[in-house]
Amino acid sequence: MTFIPTISYVKSAAGFLAEILYPRRCPVCDEVLPFRSGSICPGCFSKLSFTKSPVCKKCGKEVTGEAVEYCYDCSRRRKSFEYGIALLNYDGISKRSMARIKYHGRREYMDFYGEALAKRYGKRIARMKADAIIPVPVHKKRLRERGFNQAEALARSVSAHLPEPVPVRTDILFRTRKTMPQKDLTAAERLKNLSQAFAADSSRVPPGLETVILTDDIYTTGSTAEACARALLGAGIRRVYLLNVCIGHGR
Ligand SMILES: [Zn+2]
Ligand SMILES: [Zn+2]
Repeated sequence: MTFIPTISYVKSAAGFLAEILYPRRCPVCDEVLPFRSGSICPGCFSKLSFTKSPVCKKCGKEVTGEAVEYCYDCSRRRKSFEYGIALLNYDGISKRSMARIKYHGRREYMDFYGEALAKRYGKRIARMKADAIIPVPVHKKRLRERGFNQAEALARSVSAHLPEPVPVRTDILFRTRKTMPQKDLTAAERLKNLSQAFAADSSRVPPGLETVILTDDIYTTGSTAEACARALLGAGIRRVYLLNVCIGHGR
């Protein structure tokens, strides 16, 4: 009898081979994982600080009590997006992991975070009825240095792990100029700094493309998300939702 490999056999054999050649590493401790043991150490999984309700109804940041609808920032500043979902609180652990993705080329760690977002929030994501997922773009120079856009890696991973994949579009939203470092600026200054940094191409928004999900690795003050949402709405998109891996603590 001749052996005819099925597609799933070929896929699992390819996965097997890939794991021998490129052993998986844990997105938290960066160590090589034991062969075929999953995508994160169990001990490291328990170190991740997943966002817990109650969260801000706008940005998804943890708030102090059920009676609090919006975080300090969202209650003071109008946001142009519908609302956002974030997987993790931005603490020392998630900060280190995000830095490894961006500055040490650990692109594959976004597979883990995208899958975790899709698994944990799949139903809520489906209710957004998004026509496309759009990653926050990085500047061309950064893209050249880094070799990839972490927000796009996240978008592709989320899409791949949803029951119904949503197309990822990287041809609509652009970064037009390099921004100054945001670190020492106030929220208002950040938004001003960013307001001309993003542009969306309305000619690439066909009728019917109305709702999008914007993805990014970290949400802190929300000024990047706000600048991107404004650009997208200006180009004819009707609703913008957010998916972030990390969201800043505090106010
Ligand atoms: Zn680990
Ligand atoms: Zn908020």
